[in-house]
Amino acid sequence: MAGSVTDELLANNQDYANGKATHRSAYPGRQPIQPSRRVAVIACMDARLDVEDLLGLQTGEAHIIRNAGGVVTEDAIRCLLISHHLLNTREFILVHHTRCGMLAFTDDLLKAGLEGDPAASKLLCQATGRDFVSPCKCSESPAHFRAFRGALEPLDAPRSGQSTERLQWDVRRGMSAILNHPWMPTSGPDAVSVRGFIYDVDTGKLEEVSYPGAIG
Ligand SMILES: [Zn+2]
Repeated sequence: MAGSVTDELLANNQDYANGKATHRSAYPGRQPIQPSRRVAVIACMDARLDVEDLLGLQTGEAHIIRNAGGVVTEDAIRCLLISHHLLNTREFILVHHTRCGMLAFTDDLLKAGLEGDPAASKLLCQATGRDFVSPCKCSESPAHFRAFRGALEPLDAPRSGQSTERLQWDVRRGMSAILNHPWMPTSGPDAVSVRGFIYDVDTGKLEEVSYPGAIG
């Protein structure tokens, strides 16, 4: 979408990657409840991502939804439906990132470790470099951890073609979940748009993920 707010935020990202301060942190005074740039961002909770900084967003401009992986979960959809239908946002931005921890485990492995499987605990200990202390109990909740599909790789490994592809798959899966939701308008005057990106934690730059495409 030419001339979109997302494009302006991508230009801010170039400034950020070049070392420029992009976010003003001072209290801005009273503001309306609706995000002024009509944008909602879904991003990973990773400590190396500062969403306001890397997109040059100011207080009051956007909704920012974060979770492990920046995954479009049922709760993320809940937030986006409220964001759009009640609070007037219209551009959604998905941000996954290189070296994401969600590339380094599987749902089955973490569940087995938590439930007391010694081999799984040992693998998780090796993967994370911390003692994995299993509670040795079963639970139905959370039903899924939503680790990224594909072959495991070491925690915080440098990016590779394979890890980039795995990130792209999940970004596209998230875009598809939003665009195909029956309550999310994608045509007409009330349509939302969705664009997905991979943030490179080694450069500070966002790279757009093509859509549609492979989802693994
Ligand atoms: Zn992450």
